Amino acid sequence: MRVSACPSRAEASLTRHRWYFRYGVALLFVVAALGLRWVLQPWLGERVPFLTFFPAAALLAWYAGAGPAALAVGAGLIGVDYLFAREGVPLAADPVTAFLLQLFYLVITAVMIWLAVLARRRTEAAEGAAEVSRRAVEALELTRAEMKAVLENVPTGIYHLDAEDRFVFVNAPYERLMQRPSAELIGRRIAEVFPPDAAAQFGENNRRVLPAGRTLAFEEVTTFDGERRVYSSVKTPLPLADGSPGVLGLSTDITAQKQAEERLRESEARLREADRRKDEFIAMLSHELRNPLAPILTATQFLALAEPSDARLRGALDIIGRQVRVMARLVDDLLDLSRLTSGRIELRRERVDAAVALEEALQVSRPLIEQARHELVVRRPDEPVYVEGDLVRLAQIVANLVNNAAKYTPPGGRIEVALEREEDRVMIRVADNGIGVPADMIERIFEMYAQVDSSSERTRGGLGIGLTLAQQLAVMHGGRIEARSAGAGRGSTFTLYLPAAEIADARRGAA
Ligand code: ADP
Repeated sequence: MRVSACPSRAEASLTRHRWYFRYGVALLFVVAALGLRWVLQPWLGERVPFLTFFPAAALLAWYAGAGPAALAVGAGLIGVDYLFAREGVPLAADPVTAFLLQLFYLVITAVMIWLAVLARRRTEAAEGAAEVSRRAVEALELTRAEMKAVLENVPTGIYHLDAEDRFVFVNAPYERLMQRPSAELIGRRIAEVFPPDAAAQFGENNRRVLPAGRTLAFEEVTTFDGERRVYSSVKTPLPLADGSPGVLGLSTDITAQKQAEERLRESEARLREADRRKDEFIAMLSHELRNPLAPILTATQFLALAEPSDARLRGALDIIGRQVRVMARLVDDLLDLSRLTSGRIELRRERVDAAVALEEALQVSRPLIEQARHELVVRRPDEPVYVEGDLVRLAQIVANLVNNAAKYTPPGGRIEVALEREEDRVMIRVADNGIGVPADMIERIFEMYAQVDSSSERTRGGLGIGLTLAQQLAVMHGGRIEARSAGAGRGSTFTLYLPAAEIADARRGAA
């Protein structure tokens, strides 16, 4: 804030100085007044002995305060008495007149001091008030300058309209936004400045603000010179300088943002459409692939029944049978996935002993385990552990986990499968000492088509959908699968959690 360097009359006073300085000045005044009175003695004689002390007292009272002035008056009384006695001039003809003269001097100077101090205080108060208002004006000017800088530099068009939609103020960004100079806007109504469609829209929105009595936000769309522009506008009631009603508006051009959003929406729609077509294609493809597999498998079984004597023929039949089963499993997974994504999988729920589901899963997985010569350890409780669910789907989930354990463990590994009940939940834990899962992939492997190392996984015959499928089926059963691994090469543990059957009953009862 600017502060004037010019001292005010109040600041010129001696009252701000230390007391001894002010009293020192008072003594100097006494000496000067005495000296002057002595110089005037030949002309004045015994008349007006205190003449020079009246102005001295007044000046001191004004500039140095009442104390130094009183000191000067006192010192003047003594000084004049002494001066007159030395000069041999009587102060007055008789002692009574002398006394009265001195009394008159004291009373008059006291009144003068009092008046001077009073006047001084008044002046100081007036100067103080003037100073305050001068600073307020300066501050106001500064605020105005700041406001102007802000108004001209914000990326928002700001305008003030009266109740008849007439422009009272516009900032420079608004001029640019509306492609019109302020001279074309100020004092004119919206309808006189903008094309009819824009004017109708702007005007209609403005007219909603005053009755509402609060800030309203609008998206205003208009066409300038054949170009469609979109503005985000905030309008608020704000009286004009004369107190009449007005509307303050703030508008930002969001055309580019809107266009980007539109493009994003279009590309999202295209992506969704492509995704839908891909799902349809996968569904159709898996159907077409699945159809010939059953007859091929039956044919190999039929040929095997004939027990061909040639060992090479038996070997070939064995290979065909095994590979067709692998293919069938993959295609079945694909079919299930497309059913899941289109919400066409229905669970045939019943009370199932989890041990039975586990046994069915192991039957499916055993050939794979044996082929890789893994050691399989199975632990299950003696009494049944019931869950509510679809036996086939539950077996499918567990088989998926055990197959993975067999696939992702180097030959001769160890797979432990444990079924446990813990309070209100049932757990089937499949642990292996295989290649493990790196920490950064542990969550991602449940995503569709996710594989830790797609080049090596390809050789193990997988599509990266088994865990997605298993997890979704687990969720449909009110459960989930959790994966843990100490890292690459350090084995993994996949645990399927399911609600125990009594709990499932209770939940359904509560629902
Ligand atoms: P895939 O058909 O590739 O086996 P999944 O969805 O069943 O697909 O598994 C996804 C990925 O998770 C696998 O490609 C593999 O990288 C990793 N994975 C699954 N189970 C195991 C396991 N027991 N040990 C190590 N990695 C595993």
